[in-house]
Amino acid sequence: MSDTAPQITPPHLGEPYLLTPGPLTTSYAVKQAMLRDWGSWDGDFRAVTKEMRKMLLEMINDTKDEFDCVPMQGSGSFSVEAMLASFIPRDGKVLVLSNGAYGKRIAQTLVYLNRDHVVIDKGDYMPPRGDEVTAALRADPAITHVVVVHCETSSGILNPVTEISQAVYNEGRKLLIDSMSAFGAIPLEVGEIRYQAMVSSANKCIEGVPGFGFVIARKNELQAAKGRSHSLSLDLHAQWAHMNKTGQWRFTPPTHVVVAFLQALKAHRAEGGVAGRGARYADNRDVLVEGMRGLGFETLLKDRWLSPIIVTFFCPAHEAFDFNVFYEAMKTKGFIIYPGKLTVVDSFRIGCIGQMDAEVMRQVVQAAKATLNEMGVPDAAPPKAALNERARLGA
Ligand SMILES: *Cc1c(COP(=O)(O)O)cnc(C)c1O
Repeated sequence: MSDTAPQITPPHLGEPYLLTPGPLTTSYAVKQAMLRDWGSWDGDFRAVTKEMRKMLLEMINDTKDEFDCVPMQGSGSFSVEAMLASFIPRDGKVLVLSNGAYGKRIAQTLVYLNRDHVVIDKGDYMPPRGDEVTAALRADPAITHVVVVHCETSSGILNPVTEISQAVYNEGRKLLIDSMSAFGAIPLEVGEIRYQAMVSSANKCIEGVPGFGFVIARKNELQAAKGRSHSLSLDLHAQWAHMNKTGQWRFTPPTHVVVAFLQALKAHRAEGGVAGRGARYADNRDVLVEGMRGLGFETLLKDRWLSPIIVTFFCPAHEAFDFNVFYEAMKTKGFIIYPGKLTVVDSFRIGCIGQMDAEVMRQVVQAAKATLNEMGVPDAAPPKAALNERARLGA
């Protein structure tokens, strides 16, 4: 190992690796950080919250001090909902760029929030492009905001957010980003890409455990959000104002999770920050994809759109292949994989994030190879129909 190689700790006590995009395999140090109780009002815990917010802000390189970080209890979707409810005025109109389950969830949240919206639905695996965003915004001057998913975790596609941001601001509108599964591994520096707010959570690329999310937003947007939220507990302005005044979360924080997350942030920094973390994940993906292709598997996406977060593979066409059998056999070998979420063809997903490196990914490929042998599947090639569909859509 070189000096810069990250220190990976294997799962504790023989647990399987979680090849899932959060919750994921965390380090021993992260787990260990939870072996202490904290008073949420106490100065020690307030210091943890303060340092966490500061470290998160450092990741966007906000040299003009225009942004602030507001953590929010709950899973990631709670923070997405808080962001949408707080930053989209009740008389605003939203363009949702959807190409998977998380884009759909955003549109569904807007229904609950009673915000007028239109959706560009690209199906399961096509990226929304800048020129179609431009066209949609020109066609409808009432649209005030665009919402995009950074990495659409349901397929693993890495959406072209920089191109989309340019299109949005060229037309004088505002961008909100669901960077849940990308933040921490894929750059989102505010000097490079313009947006009003983004959201992520503790249990994705920073490698913490689940329990809260966070919104990083322009302070003027947070200021303008006062009194706008439909929800008491998801009111970002109220959480922000209270936290800045008292140093405390408004309601009971997941104390152990926050302390574990601070440990995860320190490890993230030690690994070289976003660049270091992103490089390890990209390496994981490359080893995985090359190995699986070597067994005959095909990826859903072309290389250009493959994120370093999670990869979708078509299920083999061979009649002896059964996903549930494959899943259980992989689990026996120490790897929890993830079912697919596509509508047209059978697929499964393998995550590249968490406490794993290229060596672990080689073991994953070996386990897949052995499992295919056990199942009597000599070739993992997908059905012709899957490849035809992919070709038809130009993915
Ligand atoms: C994980 C994730 C979310 C949030 O999901 P929760 O189950 O609520 O944590 C939202 N968007 C994307 C893109 C995600 O990957």
